[in-house]
Amino acid sequence: MHALLVEDDDRMARALGTALAQRGHTVRRVGRALDALRHVHEAGFVLLDLGLPDLDGLELLRRLRTVCDAPLIVVTARCEERDIVQGLRAGADDYVVKPFRMAELMARIDTVRRRTDPRSGRAGAHPAHPADPGGVGGVGGVGGVGGVGGRPVPVRTGDVEVDLAGRTVTVAGAEVRLTRREFDVLAFLAARPDEVHSREVILDRIWGDVFLAASRSLDVHVAGIRAKTGRSHLVRTVRGFGYQLGSPTAPAKGDGTR
Ligand code: CA
Repeated sequence: MHALLVEDDDRMARALGTALAQRGHTVRRVGRALDALRHVHEAGFVLLDLGLPDLDGLELLRRLRTVCDAPLIVVTARCEERDIVQGLRAGADDYVVKPFRMAELMARIDTVRRRTDPRSGRAGAHPAHPADPGGVGGVGGVGGVGGVGGRPVPVRTGDVEVDLAGRTVTVAGAEVRLTRREFDVLAFLAARPDEVHSREVILDRIWGDVFLAASRSLDVHVAGIRAKTGRSHLVRTVRGFGYQLGSPTAPAKGDGTR
């Protein structure tokens, strides 16, 4: 596959270029944001350094996302939680902090490409949910809600209704727009509302891996669900373990919700 490597440091670019070539990728390396924008249309996936000479990498990331859907991994020395959250929110599929292990980065590239490839087996394995090309099609089917072959019954908790089949969420009757992945997380919890789901299981089912960057991404998405629905108790945190669907209008006392 053809990679666009956006990296202004020559030594880092050589090391990455060699590793990518060894795995059979062709590489175009650019050192400036303007050149990245010029060549992004030809890329099968993008590796993006945030510290560039002509434009802040986060701003470049936002601009790239307006013109290109290719899988994109940020590879940067910026390791603050805030930077990682901003990078993921701006549309990065994964976030790798320098210095990194080359084998791990290559594994993450493979994971991100699998996960974002609509032709991947995971999407095809769940034909009951053709509306979800991202590969998380199994979510609505977990627990057999609504029965085999039937349209799942919407899940209600408090004044929130999650329509697993229609992929919509309403709060007090008004539709709330979640991102695809926010909906995937909520639908996964709603499909088995009585169970507490571990972080690992959620990450594995929805992100396809349990890497650290995805782990932070899960928290970002849960925060997004709570903020957009205006129901902070809709997703219940079970500290040190995972999440469960909560009751948004009448949280029980001492239920561990933070
Ligand atoms: Ca740099």
